[in-house]
Amino acid sequence: MLIAANWKMNGSLEFTKEFLNSLVKTLEFSDRQVLVCPPSLYLLEAKNILSGNKVMLGAQNVSHQLQGPYTGEHSAAMLKEFCSHVIVGHSERRTLFKETDDLVAEKALAVVNSGMCPIICVGESLADKNSGNTFAVVEAQIAACLNKLDSRSNFVIAYEPVWAIGTGLSASPEEAQKVHKFLRDIISKHNQSLAKSVQIIYGGSVKSENAASFIKMPDIDGVLVGGASLKLQEFLSIIEAK
Ligand code: PEP
Repeated sequence: MLIAANWKMNGSLEFTKEFLNSLVKTLEFSDRQVLVCPPSLYLLEAKNILSGNKVMLGAQNVSHQLQGPYTGEHSAAMLKEFCSHVIVGHSERRTLFKETDDLVAEKALAVVNSGMCPIICVGESLADKNSGNTFAVVEAQIAACLNKLDSRSNFVIAYEPVWAIGTGLSASPEEAQKVHKFLRDIISKHNQSLAKSVQIIYGGSVKSENAASFIKMPDIDGVLVGGASLKLQEFLSIIEAK
């Protein structure tokens, strides 16, 4: 069960220090996998605080290029010095920064090649949902990545309906379960044993009140939490939700 925090462009150095120091003290005995993805500027401080602790560190984005004249970008090799995971294809990157399925797949490949695990985000817009295109959209998004990655590659999928991100509206656990099962079936066509072990996590307005209802679904292997991961007590309740 993976509980991942996406802080997006929030926080400060002080916030990072206080939050993570408290998190590691409180989490000593949790059996959940916990991942925190702060803004990249704070990864060094976060790594120092988390060293020797089982809380994992992730980045929110990566360049698909290996190195060179790409002002403002971070390569996978750079992030590998701090992180085990990198989020790719978050809907905010797809919509605000015009990232295509192909670019997201290039990024996922760069992350895998550097030895980290990409968290590949997929999800339909409200218009897609209303026109009955949810399955077609997530299939195209995941197919682009599967076509690029070796069938033995390790990755996490985050199903995040765009209309549920930051809106307070979440998919129902049953709705999400159907999409997760669909995604697992697609992966199974590429690699049956990977389909059993791959973590498919849900994101979209997860809070302490609804986290358990997602986690108990058979094909939901954790949650990706945005807004609620910035409040320590709320995030701790999500981590322990049963
Ligand atoms: C996210 O940004 O990945 C996310 C799920 O956000 P929120 O939990 O705020 O909807």
